[in-house]
Amino acid sequence: MIEEPKAEYRAGIGTDIHRVAEGRRLMLCGVHVPYPAGLAGHSDGDVGLHAVIDALLGAAGMGDIGTFFPDTDPRWKDADSKELLFIIKEQLEAKQWDVVNVDVIVHTEEPKLAPVRGQMKRCVAGLLGIDFAAVNVKAKTNEGLGEIGAGQAMAATATALLKKKRRRTL
Ligand code: MG
Repeated sequence: MIEEPKAEYRAGIGTDIHRVAEGRRLMLCGVHVPYPAGLAGHSDGDVGLHAVIDALLGAAGMGDIGTFFPDTDPRWKDADSKELLFIIKEQLEAKQWDVVNVDVIVHTEEPKLAPVRGQMKRCVAGLLGIDFAAVNVKAKTNEGLGEIGAGQAMAATATALLKKKRRRTL
């Protein structure tokens, strides 16, 4: 009897938090969200995409976002985080990983993200080359508690599932 090779799956988790800062464009999950302030950071401060990157790297056992994009490297100053996620997607490709699905929570008191959720899903799905339905984006307030509740910070939590590509046998 020929045995089918077992499918190999790996799950990962990622989190990130950035300070709210005046004079910055608010980028969340790759989408510009109209708001009077943005997020501080070496890159564009996109907490959503940073959490997704860490979830993917966690699943693949490939370290974290700082391993690939150290915040001491001028190359990544004000970097577009979409570009960072795309680079990570290519790294996963090279290691024979397919992305099965991604789930993201953005923790912020404001603005309301419901109007841009579809755009965020489309953006992440497009960058990862997966179905729209394989990406979920949720938004949660912090019920007025802590720095997030006070509008001083925004955070994100993400999970990702990877599946090893089937090796072709002759
Ligand atoms: Mg970050």
